[in-house]
Amino acid sequence: MKNISFKAKTTIWITLLISVVCAISIASILLMSRRVANSEIKQTLISTVEGNLDEIEYKNGILEIESDFAFYSDGIYCDVYNDNFEYINGGTPQSLIDYTEFSSGEIKEHSRGNGEYYIYDAYLDFRKYEYEIDVFSGQIIQYDADVAGSDAPAAGEYFVTRFENGIDTETAIDIALNHAGATRENSTIITAEIPSYENRQVFKIEFICTEPLNGGVWVRGIVPANTADGAFGAVNKAVVYVIPVFIIIAALGAYLLSKRTIRPVENITRSAKEISSGSDLSKRIEADGGSNEISALAETFNGMLSRLQNSFESEKQFTSDASHELRTPLAVIKAECEYALSQNADSEDKEEALVSINEQSDKMTALVNALLSLTRTEQGTERFNFEKTNMSELVEGICSSFTLSKGIKLQSSVEKDIFFNMDISLISRLLENLLSNAVRYGRENGYINVILKRDRDKIILTVEDNGIGIKEEELPKIWGRFYRADSSRSSSDGFGLGLALVERIAALHGGRAEAQSEFGKGSKFIITFFEKV
Ligand code: ADP
Repeated sequence: MKNISFKAKTTIWITLLISVVCAISIASILLMSRRVANSEIKQTLISTVEGNLDEIEYKNGILEIESDFAFYSDGIYCDVYNDNFEYINGGTPQSLIDYTEFSSGEIKEHSRGNGEYYIYDAYLDFRKYEYEIDVFSGQIIQYDADVAGSDAPAAGEYFVTRFENGIDTETAIDIALNHAGATRENSTIITAEIPSYENRQVFKIEFICTEPLNGGVWVRGIVPANTADGAFGAVNKAVVYVIPVFIIIAALGAYLLSKRTIRPVENITRSAKEISSGSDLSKRIEADGGSNEISALAETFNGMLSRLQNSFESEKQFTSDASHELRTPLAVIKAECEYALSQNADSEDKEEALVSINEQSDKMTALVNALLSLTRTEQGTERFNFEKTNMSELVEGICSSFTLSKGIKLQSSVEKDIFFNMDISLISRLLENLLSNAVRYGRENGYINVILKRDRDKIILTVEDNGIGIKEEELPKIWGRFYRADSSRSSSDGFGLGLALVERIAALHGGRAEAQSEFGKGSKFIITFFEKV
């Protein structure tokens, strides 16, 4: 995975993620839909069975299943059983007929062979009876003779009776009640219609009994549970085809997305390569100027390039300044040697030449030493010895032993017992550099003030003089290596390295160096150290 490009990785991850989300969503949708479908099937099963109850009645004492009875509808089979659970009639194929224990009003899940079924039973006890008594010339004619499985009382005995003058409604009702085994006391008559013509009478009699007279019937509905699966099998198949398409679309989208996202990074890489191959540090990476992460990266790169450029340039400057500073004494030495070796030089000239050569080599040694100590502090190659030291005593000691000239007076105001974790030789060098500058750029009979004090968690060392001062525009530059202000160039000693070293030493102690000056009036150097808690 390590060597795979970011683009490929992003594509793979996004595709995987989308595929997993897709699979989970589809699976849950299917599961939920299946549940809904199953509960719908159960509802249909109940309503079909309950609806069928209305289609069964006792007519003329005979159990009659009407033609609207749904033996098979919506995948549901319905059968009728008698009180003894014997099959009377129904639509279920013989192979599916099920004699599982009957219980009214609940859905049972039943499995047989490989199949799962839902079964629902409803029980019907008869209280409502319908009779149609057809009388022709006083003779009752029988019809609707028989229905399979009916255990209604035989109707035959009425059909032999002959009523000379026909029959009246009350008699017809009595015949019906009697036939059903009911009495006027336990029944409510609903209708007794009497359409009659010539010597024919038809009585339609309906009544409801307070208690069931005949045995009831069971209606059992049965439906394969996989009716829902059938519908969803098709959906499943569709999903099998749809998912790969989804994955391809997701992969394509993820690829385009990652390509688009990575493009600015590729631009940055290209620019960085161009810069490094051409070694041109002045070039910058093109950022789109936005405030997004990529622009921030480009800006960081550009910032880094600026710093690198600055540091390379100052290194170049440093080398050229150092060679320049060394070239002058070397040229003097060369010239003095040539003169001393020439025919014209007498022994006095030679001695003069040797003195001059000696001076120049001292100067070169001083320069090389200054350079070395600056480089060591900058590169950290020198070993520092930090220890908690009484800074007040150190400052007092240096001030009292410092060699002054030009009639300059040094006053010190040092707060007692300021302890600080420091390298004694570095802090000594820092103060000595500031003092020698104050003398070098101080005026005749001038003064130098050295103050050391504590201000809460800060220790402040100030070296102030009333010398030539520094022009405002030069102030920021004086900390640079080999920098010497124009006004001070007349002074022959000094290489422009002293303050660079001061700043570096302050930084090594976690402090900072600042300068304030008024040109022609004097300068003030403030070094602030921070006490670590
Ligand atoms: P240099 O060896 O020239 O003194 P520094 O790094 O010590 O080098 O100082 C850099 C420049 O800062 C000096 O050339 C001088 O122009 C200016 N400078 C430093 N200290 C003082 C001071 N006390 N008064 C006036 N100018 C100063």
